[in-house]
Amino acid sequence: MKNRQTIRPVVKRALCTGCGTCAGVCPRAAIEMVVQKDRYVPRLDKSRCIQCGLCFDACPGHRVDFDDMSTDLFGDIPQDVALGRYLGCYVGHAVDPQVRYNGASGGLVSALLAFALEEGLIDGALVTRMRDEDPLRPEAWLARTRSGILAAAGSKYCPVPAGTALAQILNSEGRFAVVGLPCHIQGLRKAEQCIPRLREQIRYRISLACSLNYSFRGTERFLAGCGVSPAAVDVLQYRGRGWPGSMLIRLRDGTEHTIPLAEYYRELRPYSLRRCTLCSDMLGELSDLTCGDAWLPDLAQTDHQGSSFAVTRTDAAEELLELAAAKQVVELSDLGLDQLLASQGHALFKKRKLSARLELFRLARRSVPTYQQTLLPPTRADYLHSLKLYAARYALAGNHRILRRLFRSARRPRPAAPPAPVPPTEALSRR
Ligand SMILES: Cc1cc2nc3c(=O)[nH]c(=O)nc-3n(C[C@H](O)[C@H](O)[C@H](O)COP(=O)(O)OP(=O)(O)OC[C@H]3O[C@@H](n4cnc5c(N)ncnc54)[C@H](O)[C@@H]3O)c2cc1C
Repeated sequence: MKNRQTIRPVVKRALCTGCGTCAGVCPRAAIEMVVQKDRYVPRLDKSRCIQCGLCFDACPGHRVDFDDMSTDLFGDIPQDVALGRYLGCYVGHAVDPQVRYNGASGGLVSALLAFALEEGLIDGALVTRMRDEDPLRPEAWLARTRSGILAAAGSKYCPVPAGTALAQILNSEGRFAVVGLPCHIQGLRKAEQCIPRLREQIRYRISLACSLNYSFRGTERFLAGCGVSPAAVDVLQYRGRGWPGSMLIRLRDGTEHTIPLAEYYRELRPYSLRRCTLCSDMLGELSDLTCGDAWLPDLAQTDHQGSSFAVTRTDAAEELLELAAAKQVVELSDLGLDQLLASQGHALFKKRKLSARLELFRLARRSVPTYQQTLLPPTRADYLHSLKLYAARYALAGNHRILRRLFRSARRPRPAAPPAPVPPTEALSRR
């Protein structure tokens, strides 16, 4: 078991996703996730490390064998290149108006978790909330109450080392749900391959759809543009307050600002995390259940409270949705596969663009992750898009003031803000 590879080369080759799985599974608690520049990276305490190799084996940063894992988990390789394995596609939301209004896109995930807990299907759920003492930084934790689950609702558009909380699961008895981005779920599945007990402990793996995530610098620069110093922030919620929802910034002096999603998301976009641009998995293909915004043309016009799409990949997820719908905790209707994929155009784009990005990285002699799965051949537009993306990152994220100004002035004017949602009673008193 000794002298095996540690997480260090992954970090050195800039392949770390910051998911925190390595820290969560380390048997000697030798790894801590620390903020470096604008994201989380693992810091290894050599004096504690026994070089067992678990951190490297569970790491999704350097390699994910999607096809082998799919065969192992689901019995075959995925039917659909963009979506992965699926049993059913649905659109729906929480029935409780408060849960729906406070969720990112209809509170489906939080409603399902709270239901599973109350029905005794799970003993807790690994979720992510913003820290009370440092409201711009997230923390993953094991919620064991309905209120704990609901307090963690809403998307966090910043680096989240959710895998760190796997240590809490490994130190507990019982069965759990884990919510995370596709990289978190990849790490979880790899960890389960290494630790069979973990596999038995996890009843539901719920992935959020994710086209890209953004650095802390993105949020900080956005706040600076609003004239807000990070030290003045008491509460930061990226989403909630109906659909598409808004960012809530509550300052220590009690002042509140709400900024529509469309407005701040545009500003975050250039601050995508470099490693996220090398990811092939927008729809959490190794999950039991994937949920994301139901960006369907009809709903986008009429739904101001929120709806998520849901893709089930396992019987466990199908049964959970069926039970929750039967007990009127969630409302669900069938969604055609074509409708789903049309609303999530990125999913297919990712499989094509990634081929272009990998080639660009190889040309620049940079390390790339290994994915064992089908990617699609890129078009010329994919190469151009990728070059533009990296040029924008270089201009905006670095210290290149002139380039930054040029890039900002070349950007299109902002779209009109989406219509304001109607808040149900007490909707804003989440905390
Ligand atoms: C970085 C990011 C990118 C996304 N990109 C897309 C996209 O391209 N297309 C799309 O359709 N949907 C995307 N989503 C998903 C979408 O924003 C909603 O989270 C999803 O629709 C579920 O909404 P809900 O109301 O059902 O969940 P909620 O009831 O709001 O519950 C969300 C759950 O996810 C957990 N969570 C939130 N943020 C994170 C995070 N960063 N890491 C780990 N756990 C987290 C929360 O703790 C909570 O348990 C993204 C989400 C994130 C965080």
